This record gives sequence, structure tokens and C-alpha cells, in this order.
Amino acid sequence: MRRLYFDHAASTPVDPRVLRAMSPYFSGEFGNPGSLHSFGQEAIAAVDASREEIGKLIGATHFREIIFTSGATEANNLALRGAVEFYKKNHAGSAGATGFAAHPRVIISSIEHESIMETAHDLEQYGIEVIKLPVNKEGVINIVALKEALNDRTVVVSVMHVNNEVGTIQPLREIKFMIDAFRKELPGVDAAHPAAYPLLHTDAAQSFPYLYCDVAMLGVDMMTLSAHKLNGPKGVGALYVRRDEKAFFANGGFPLAAQVSGGGQEFGVRSGTENVPGIVGFARAATLAAAARGKNATRVTALRDELWKRIKAAVPDAEINGPAGDAKAPHILNIYFPGHDAQDLLTRFDRAGLAVSSGSACRSRAVESSYVIEALGYSKERAASSIRFSLGKVTTKRQVAAAAKIIQKTLLSAE
Ligand code: PMP
Repeated sequence: MRRLYFDHAASTPVDPRVLRAMSPYFSGEFGNPGSLHSFGQEAIAAVDASREEIGKLIGATHFREIIFTSGATEANNLALRGAVEFYKKNHAGSAGATGFAAHPRVIISSIEHESIMETAHDLEQYGIEVIKLPVNKEGVINIVALKEALNDRTVVVSVMHVNNEVGTIQPLREIKFMIDAFRKELPGVDAAHPAAYPLLHTDAAQSFPYLYCDVAMLGVDMMTLSAHKLNGPKGVGALYVRRDEKAFFANGGFPLAAQVSGGGQEFGVRSGTENVPGIVGFARAATLAAAARGKNATRVTALRDELWKRIKAAVPDAEINGPAGDAKAPHILNIYFPGHDAQDLLTRFDRAGLAVSSGSACRSRAVESSYVIEALGYSKERAASSIRFSLGKVTTKRQVAAAAKIIQKTLLSAE
């Protein structure tokens, strides 16, 4: 049986060119980047060249602003935990007149990936105040709620670039304007440089292959990336962190406390021997993805719209969850099938050779409905009857037609 893969938001196949770029670093050039001999030097040169390559692709001003991690989950953990811990270490007790340091606040959207939601939940257990911003039916955060949530104890605002379940694109520029306006109004700025706060972090794991991800253009201080979402290998990602030597000199300019301690790799922010083949593959995949971005975005959008047209024709009561128009990522289509159980549909699609997802992959082993769809204002019943189809650069028109046929057959045979 030919299998159809419509779950590219969960993971993507490694591009053969990426595999070729990685291959020398498994057993030929296998040195530890921390070793001082020539094997080590070759390895660290490959890591730093990759760092520079990725830095340039996102408009980082210095290659040392890229910290390699084991993926987007770790990068998100580092962004939130690292920023809060650094802040507590360096500012607790130095609040001065503004009261800035006491009781830090973290602001996130209510439809972030689990790696942000759960991290924020953990921080809450340690006494950090977490504000979750509501979103509208399209999944866009409420800017007025952000304005109201910002205070002089806010350490980090984390809002994802593209949502992994419904494809919403968040208005990061507007968020940045709001933060800047808030900063200007801060009374008597603390001598210990709180003007650099609140930091703006975005999780760009889903957006990079389709949307321009320039950190200056988006106005972010930190940005999360993951290689396996852009036809690179699993187990590698990065956190971009804007270095501000004036504000955070204490830590080489990073506003982060290390969350993995050890040999001091990644500028002391993330210890552990670097995943050299993974990092090389990540850089190659990111370059390829950025070069084909426009072309892939146009093609995948057309395929997604075609899929939706066919589904709607076959199942007239089906509805889109999240944004319906252009303001969404090209590759994600989340559909509500009234009266059907998503878990049951997923299993039956899979038996027919169509791989899709209900909610995000990280949670799909649990039989839990999507908190994202509920956060859009829909019922639990709708959340439990919704399926995510996600396309990729290797998806074809013929696959779309074949997938639509399976969907039609499965739904009709259920009635
Ligand atoms: N953030 C988003 C938006 C994602 O879609 C994912 C993957 N589901 C992650 C984070 C986690 O990425 P990783 O698998 O690299 O840890």
C-alpha cells in the first residue's frame, strides 16, 4: 500500500542534500569540537560555520547569538527558564524604586506549544506569575490584553510565530511596538538596566520554511528553531539570543542562565558535546529552506487550498478551525468533522494509508482533545472532532487528490 504523509507539522523527511552534508561527520570527521587537536578543530570549524550560516539566514548581528540545542523543546525551555533565572539572580533585590525585580512575570499566548505551556506551568510552581493571553477565533492574540498584562516585572513575553495546530500567524511586529511603547512609559528606569526587559521571544519552529524569519524585522530578542521541521535531522535546533553586552555584561551579553551545566559549550549557556552532524545538517537544511521559501509557500498554499476544496465538496458540513484566509501558514489545515471522533478518524485514515494528526504530535499518544482549539472559543466536542492535515515541500497534487479520496471514503463509510 502506498502511504500518504500529511503530517509535516510533526516532522519532515530529511532532504537527501542534507543527508550528504551530514555524512562525513559521523565517522570520518568525528572529532569532539572541544578537543584541541586537528580532529577537534575540524569539528568546531564545522559547528561555527553552521552557526554563522544560520545566523545570517535570520539576520543575527553576530554568529555567537546562535545557541545550538537538542531541538525546539529545549530552546523554548532555555528561553523561559533561562531568562527568568538570570533575572532572578541578577535583579532580585535590586529593584529600586520601580519594584522591578520582585515577583517576575512571564506572558505567553494561550495557544503556545506544550514546551512553552508546560515550562510556564513549572515556573508558576516556583512562584513566577504567568499570564496567558486570550486569542480570537482565528487564534490571534488580543493586543489589548497584552497591553494590560505588561508591567515593570515582566521578564519575557513569548508568542509563537506560527501555531502548529491551526496555522495562525501572530502579529509579532505589533507585539514589539506594544512592548516598545510600554518601555518608553516606564517610570524611573532602574540602574540595573531593566530597560532591556521585557524580552520578546518567539517560537519559529513552524514558520521558518514558509515565512521570512528575520529577527530584526520581527523585532524579537529570542527565537526558537528546530531542524526536523525544515527537512533537517531530528534532535537539533537552536535558540537565537540577541546579545546585549551593555545590559547583560555579567553573562557575556546573554540574558540567560544556563539550564544544562557542564563543560561550558555554547558560550557557557548550554553544555554538552555538540551534535556535529546534526548541526551541519541543520544549517544545510535551513539554507535550502530559505532559498526555496517563496516558491514552496506558493505551491504548498495552492495544494492546501485544493485539499480543502475537495474535502468541503465531499463532506459539506466540515469546517476550518482557525484562520481561513491568507493570514495563515501555508502548510496547515485544521478541519472539524462534526459528529466524528478524531482519534477514530485518525486510526481509520491510517489504516487506509493516510497519516494525519489530531492535535500536536507530542500529545497525540494521549487521548486528549486540543487545548488550542478550545482556546479559539470552540467546544470540547469540536476539539475532539478535529483533524490536522499538514503539507510539506514534497507533497504533490496527486497526493492531495488521493488523500481527499481516502477522506471521503472513510467519512462516508462511517455514516
Ligand atoms: N514548537 C512548535 C511550534 C512545534 O511545532 C514543535 C514540534 N511539534 C516544537 C516546538 C517542538 O520541537 P522539537 O521536536 O524540535 O522539540
